[in-house]
Amino acid sequence: MKYKNPGQNLPNRFLLFCNALLLCGLFFFPGCKPATGTNLKKHSINFIAMGTYITMSAYGDQAGKALELSEEKIKELEDLWSVSYEKSEIYRVNNSRGETTQISTETEELLEFALAMAEKTEGTFEPTIYPVVDAWGFTSHQYRIPGKEELAGLLKNTGYKKVCLSDGNIHLSDGVKLDLGAVAKGYAGDMVVDLLKQQGITSALLDIGGNIQLIGKKPDGGKWRIGIRNPFDDGETIGIVEAEDCAVITSGGYERYFTGENGKKYHHIINPATGYPAESGLASVTIVAKKGRLADVLSTALFVMGLEQATGYWRQHQNFDMILITENGGIHITKSLSDRFSTNGGTSPAVIDTIDAQ
Ligand code: FAD
Ligand code: MG
Repeated sequence: MKYKNPGQNLPNRFLLFCNALLLCGLFFFPGCKPATGTNLKKHSINFIAMGTYITMSAYGDQAGKALELSEEKIKELEDLWSVSYEKSEIYRVNNSRGETTQISTETEELLEFALAMAEKTEGTFEPTIYPVVDAWGFTSHQYRIPGKEELAGLLKNTGYKKVCLSDGNIHLSDGVKLDLGAVAKGYAGDMVVDLLKQQGITSALLDIGGNIQLIGKKPDGGKWRIGIRNPFDDGETIGIVEAEDCAVITSGGYERYFTGENGKKYHHIINPATGYPAESGLASVTIVAKKGRLADVLSTALFVMGLEQATGYWRQHQNFDMILITENGGIHITKSLSDRFSTNGGTSPAVIDTIDAQ
């Protein structure tokens, strides 16, 4: 079996990040001063955490110290929420065998948000999907194709309604296990944005394993220009979105997958109704939203929903924007992105369908 996992292909993500920065016109060579009306000094930090490559750039004299605090915060949260780190709270909760366990406020608030979003997205975002994700090998990287009966048995132990939170305690029915892979990076990104703003940072770009989170505008006052990965062509961008002070987060079947003996690709975004990788007709979903936690959850949930149900969900809520790329190459964007999204002018720019509010 061949497989692709950012943990093994870290340079790829880094290239993607460079893509994003190149488009922001911010990726300049050492020594030359940024062409900006201001002389805000750029500070950057790169490290690995949460199984992925993390790169952060921030501007201003206090940015260096602020970024060091941000790295510490991300690593602290990883130690709280990792499913595989035996000292993490989530590891302890997942092995509580039906006993009620105490959790920290940070974990409780994250889980309250996750359960509320599971409800809102009718379980397409499902934080108890761990047993199924694990059976496919996405946690151990020992990939395999589970049988129908095995999956049916595992699905009996999933369902966000089996999680009970109250006053700093959590109770999971025995066999139920949490997987925060689709929400914790976005949630952690929001906490880092708050920390940087408290440190007086007014312009920054965070890339947390492909989750882009922005503070303010670029130092020269222009909008950030973020490249959207072409799901059909590794490392290429299919379009550019201009954004400021928000999160731009993508989920796609191309991020973590393996190829079975049968030549079929199995990716890591699971349809909780079937236990199989979601086959919704979407190749990637990008969400543009004020908060990274919302964008992270919705990029996964809407990927599972598919174009029609995702459009209905957007029309019902409209507290975010989206770029949906279908398996047949169609690009569907919500109306308010139409003057902020452009395909990067390939030979035959893709047809862009604009989604209206009704
Ligand atoms: P997203 O679409 O954002 O999320 C997909 C991930 O969410 C899947 O990998 C699965 O974990 C879960 N998921 C799948 N389907 C659903 C669904 N329908 N609803 C809800 N969740 C779903 N990776 C490593 O390789 N090694 C590590 O040590 C490691 N540690 C981590 C620690 C933390 C605290 C976090 C948050 C992540 C860690 N990861 C690690 C990465 C994690 O395993 C996921 O692969 C990653 O978060 C996926 O992000 P994404 O944006 O690619 O996909
Ligand atoms: Mg995500």
